Amino acid sequence: MPKIALPNQKAMHASTRTTARRYLAVLSLAVCLVIVSIFGGFHYRTDHLIREQFLRQARAFFQEIVLTRQWVSDHGGVYVPLREGMQANPYLAKIPGLKVVIKDEAGEPYTLKNPALVTREISELGLKERLFTFHITSLKPVNPANRPDSFEQDALAAFEAGNAEVFRFEETGNSTVMRYMAPLITQKSCLGCHASQGYKEGDVRGGISVAIPAKEIFDQLRLERTYQWFSMAGIIALIIALMFLIAHYFVKDLKKAEQQLRNMATTDFLTGLLNRREGLRRFKEEISKGLRSNQPLSVIILDVDYFKKINDDLGHLVGDWVLIDLANTLVALLRNYDIVCRYGGEEFLLILPATVLEQALDTADRLRQRVAKQAIALQDGRTVPVTISLGVAQLRAHESLDGFISRADTALYLAKENGRNQVRAAQEKSDGGGSPR
Ligand code: GH3
Ligand code: MG
Ligand code: MG
Repeated sequence: MPKIALPNQKAMHASTRTTARRYLAVLSLAVCLVIVSIFGGFHYRTDHLIREQFLRQARAFFQEIVLTRQWVSDHGGVYVPLREGMQANPYLAKIPGLKVVIKDEAGEPYTLKNPALVTREISELGLKERLFTFHITSLKPVNPANRPDSFEQDALAAFEAGNAEVFRFEETGNSTVMRYMAPLITQKSCLGCHASQGYKEGDVRGGISVAIPAKEIFDQLRLERTYQWFSMAGIIALIIALMFLIAHYFVKDLKKAEQQLRNMATTDFLTGLLNRREGLRRFKEEISKGLRSNQPLSVIILDVDYFKKINDDLGHLVGDWVLIDLANTLVALLRNYDIVCRYGGEEFLLILPATVLEQALDTADRLRQRVAKQAIALQDGRTVPVTISLGVAQLRAHESLDGFISRADTALYLAKENGRNQVRAAQEKSDGGGSPR
């Protein structure tokens, strides 16, 4: 039997594929957006936490140095042994009443370290250890080395405007540094040295700036970020690939189901032949094709003789089997471009393209003889003799489908009237009877 190839089948599959692709594209975009925003959120949060951690660290360093200064200041400075190469603080010598160098009973000299000096020396130690640096500065420094740099100048201006602290990350050449600065409030103990500059208790006398190297951490963060972006791209690619794979199999199953549905809609359930609706659709197509190519077209309508009796005597299941067997015989004996359809209960419509009436009558008679000669074998070994009657017509110029079928039907009727198991050709005119074969 010719394979059923529906003309719009390819178009339907293509549209299923296009729709699936469209959904996949939208879904992929959504997946990308969700994953990028999740990773973006992580990055932002990590960055924020690290900066926050630097700030806490800077505040802690600042507080520590303030406490150290306060302790030194509360004790009016501390004397340390004046070792070789050490210089007494020249700025302290200018303050009246301060003994910058003293000697013990054994004559060993000691020099006074004031809070500013202690701060600077701890800062130098911190720098040596590459931990952090402090810088004590003011707009009116006693020691010119304590002059503020541009960050400190900005910060001091901000303190005067009421800000409690200032910080920023500075990238210079190959280094990244976290700069932090908070104001230095004049304590009572500071007035001994600073009252001469006009400061009162509670005045902002300057500030201490803290610098913490941040390059190493930021380099690691950048590396981590690169690694995360690569993982993210991998995850996105994997999810999209999985989605496409699932969709591929889904579309495949869908196409199969679609094909099954179409088969169900166009095929006769019992015999597997085209059903009446599909048969008529193909019939119309063949008529147009024949007209276009100027080719003849013939049709055979055949009906099983006394089929009711087969059902009544042998049962409905045997009747079904007879129909299936007959359908197979018809398909086997016809050419593969002939169209066979189950037209009604035990009636079949055979469409024979490129066939004139004479050839169609030969074919019809061949079918009749074959059916009559070979009784249908049942599974239990019994056989059922079957005969068929056939009406044959060739399409006339300008004939309608209904007129064409009606002429073949009339011929079939005449075959039945004349005793069955015979072929009748339709009359040229639809109102006349058929001629025997
Ligand atoms: P005739 O020679 O005049 O055609 O006589 P007939 O008995 O074949 O004609 P009739 O139209 O009276 O009987 C057709 C019977 O086919 C009636 C119906 O029950 C039976 N039939 C229709 N479809 C099926 C089917 O799918 N399976 C079976 N087993 N029987 C069917
Ligand atoms: Mg019948
Ligand atoms: Mg019938």
